[in-house]
Amino acid sequence: MKNVRVAVVGAGVVGVSTAVCVAETLPSCAVTLIAEAFSPDTTSDGAAGILFAAEFPDVPIATQRRWFKSSFQHLLAIAQSEHAPEAGVTMSSGWQIFKEVPENQKPFWWDLVIGFRTMTHEELRRFPDHKFGQAFTTLKCECRSYLPWLQRRFRAAGGRVEQRRLSSLQDVGGGFHLVVNCSGLGSRVLAGDVQMEPVRGQVLQVEAPWLQHFIRDGDGKTYIYPGIRSVTIGGTRQAGDWRLQEDRTDTEGILERCRQLEPSLARAKVLSCWVGLRPGRRNPRLEREWLQLGGRRVPVVHNYGHGGWGVTLAWGTAEHAVELVRQSLRENLQSRL
Ligand SMILES: Cc1cc2nc3c(=O)[nH]c(=O)nc-3n(C[C@H](O)[C@H](O)[C@H](O)COP(=O)(O)OP(=O)(O)OC[C@H]3O[C@@H](n4cnc5c(N)ncnc54)[C@H](O)[C@@H]3O)c2cc1C
Repeated sequence: MKNVRVAVVGAGVVGVSTAVCVAETLPSCAVTLIAEAFSPDTTSDGAAGILFAAEFPDVPIATQRRWFKSSFQHLLAIAQSEHAPEAGVTMSSGWQIFKEVPENQKPFWWDLVIGFRTMTHEELRRFPDHKFGQAFTTLKCECRSYLPWLQRRFRAAGGRVEQRRLSSLQDVGGGFHLVVNCSGLGSRVLAGDVQMEPVRGQVLQVEAPWLQHFIRDGDGKTYIYPGIRSVTIGGTRQAGDWRLQEDRTDTEGILERCRQLEPSLARAKVLSCWVGLRPGRRNPRLEREWLQLGGRRVPVVHNYGHGGWGVTLAWGTAEHAVELVRQSLRENLQSRL
């Protein structure tokens, strides 16, 4: 019987993944997904969606590897299934290249992607400004397809959806036994978290169907990610910048830097420009606390602050959040229901 009412706040890739995980794995929970914006209007929708991650400073590497591995395995299974075209998940091979040989030549996820190896001198010859490179196969998850697909999966598991803006987490209403907060940058207000700051990113979609491989400069600022219908090129990482409109200087800079890496882009038609604000935080927040809701103390599970790696880590952190929900059910709720 579904006797625990759970509200998941936020319908970006983190919120929808978490709502699906709770609805599918905890049969006692009736889940309602509440958000102001749904696909295609979330930050997640515009992300390039390449599975890749930088290290967060204070989260144990074992935990970060668990998040990455779980997401990779989940999306790999989709990419290799008949759902791949509808869900917008594909495999993507290419290169990460460095102007100087990095101190750490293997990222923490090197053995979790497919076929990770150091590039040969022969392969590096086409990038004359770069001295070192890594070749591997990862995944690309296009949220404009993936989020509607996941939302259908959520409804099939009995989930309900409500579109509304909250001024505080208390606004979910008194009828819920547990709240999961996946509001991304919105947590600055909803959780009063002053650590949250926007990291502005601008990207362009270009038409270049001849490009098959991703190319990413190790400094994280310049990248070329071929996708299903177009190629995403970028980018910018501007901390504390709230502007959502195109910056023409950024556009020129992106075109120039990407053409330097891949000269054939000079022939590519620019289709569109998109700006999004990454939910920046020193580390993602996966944590439980308490909320006063309708005269009761109710557990809140936070799952936000994924910065530039929300698509990559969404499924892994959703499973982590489900563990925290399960713990709350065991410790606090079951006896009171
Ligand atoms: C240019 C760019 C490129 C990127 N490329 C990649 C990439 O290649 N790989 C990768 O892994 N990541 C990438 N990212 C990062 C990724 O987009 C984010 O980490 C991810 O989208 C965060 O997801 P989220 O669900 O936490 O937040 P969001 O997608 O922002 O969703 C937040 C949700 O909370 C809701 N919400 C917020 N406040 C309220 C409120 N007050 N009331 C009701 N609802 C509220 C919103 O309406 C929305 O539904 C990129 C980001 C940018 C900007």
